[in-house]
Amino acid sequence: MSMVLVCEMCGTQLGTFEPESLAMPLAGAMFGPLGPGFAPPFDPAATWEFLLCPMCHRRAMSWDMSAPDLLRPDRLLTTDGYWIVGRGLETPPPAPYVHNSEDLAREWEAVEAARAAVRQEPPAAQAQPATPAPVPAKAKRKGRR
Ligand SMILES: [Zn+2]
Repeated sequence: MSMVLVCEMCGTQLGTFEPESLAMPLAGAMFGPLGPGFAPPFDPAATWEFLLCPMCHRRAMSWDMSAPDLLRPDRLLTTDGYWIVGRGLETPPPAPYVHNSEDLAREWEAVEAARAAVRQEPPAAQAQPATPAPVPAKAKRKGRR
């Protein structure tokens, strides 16, 4: 099933790719047109540094603002979220519910797999310690008329 590539910088849908045909390093030839009548998004000979967005002219993928060098060469944005080459969606959809309650081992594995996938996410910023909601010093009773 092909996926739709989205420019990480400007959000434009650029083209399509087959997840199983991606390999590192990414190259222009791995990406096809959005559909009939569209041009392929990149020069097929382009190496990944030159996979430039036709709209904003910046590199369309592999940005990582949290990395020291701002690079994440194995990651690209799709309409379904970030895709990591060789691994899949960065945030996979929830594991399907296993209806057979006798097959607890399988259900457990599905839940564990979903948890493991979430653990690979960068740690979210710690939530602020809960602060009590501000209590109004006095009920507003501006009775002056
Ligand atoms: Zn762009």
